[in-house]
Amino acid sequence: MFVRPLQRIARYSTATALESNLDTRKTTLPSLPSKASGWPTPWVTLEEMHNYLTPIQETAYWQIPDHWPSLSLRRSFWFTSGPSALRYMRDIIDIANAERHHPSLLRYQDTPSPQVDVLINTHSAIASPKLFAEVFPSAFRDKVDPIPLPGITIRDVRFAILVYEKFMDTYVAQSKGIDAPIQQPFLKDPRSLIKQAHKLAGFCPACAGQHSLSQCEVRKQISPNVPCGVCGEAHWHIDCPQKKSRSTTPAAPL
Ligand SMILES: [Zn+2]
Ligand SMILES: [Zn+2]
Repeated sequence: MFVRPLQRIARYSTATALESNLDTRKTTLPSLPSKASGWPTPWVTLEEMHNYLTPIQETAYWQIPDHWPSLSLRRSFWFTSGPSALRYMRDIIDIANAERHHPSLLRYQDTPSPQVDVLINTHSAIASPKLFAEVFPSAFRDKVDPIPLPGITIRDVRFAILVYEKFMDTYVAQSKGIDAPIQQPFLKDPRSLIKQAHKLAGFCPACAGQHSLSQCEVRKQISPNVPCGVCGEAHWHIDCPQKKSRSTTPAAPL
């Protein structure tokens, strides 16, 4: 009897919970995209996020963890025996060599049951400012230079599809792999991924530099995308006069 370590993945929270019922699962993955050539590799575009990252999460149960230094795809694969899991690791290494793209993490563990963990991202990647402008228009609208930043590229999409198909076709088909739906999978939509990437990269929401908003010297010349949450005026919340007057008011004596 196998006990799947569900809690391992359930901690990745946010966004919309997926149906965990197998019957409602979408059955097809998008067809394999062509290989990327050369480095650095551009991040997936907004359209590619919709076309690939959404079905990869929904159908193949890849997760995009919150707490990793860059946007990455992560999945655990479960097996009915240790030797099958170890063979699958060799398959993954073969795929990595053929793709010339290696996982950032590849780990076998046999407790509580044989399992292979894979995490992939592209280190030599560049993000288009246009992608961030989708969510943070005022900071990124006028930026044109690609930003060197590790993230998810078409190399990772290919890798995720190839590794998943190998698991399904070779192991699940022979009852050596367990295609178990994660009990609490979460689907991150493209906007929430862009927000996550923005936060991970430490971009200033005003000018897109890599510093905090409080350290930004130009923020007062740049209006935020949304009005101040305290008073509704067009300034950053940390510059709100109402907030300042509230916080500088001495506490009433007891
Ligand atoms: Zn700034
Ligand atoms: Zn205000």
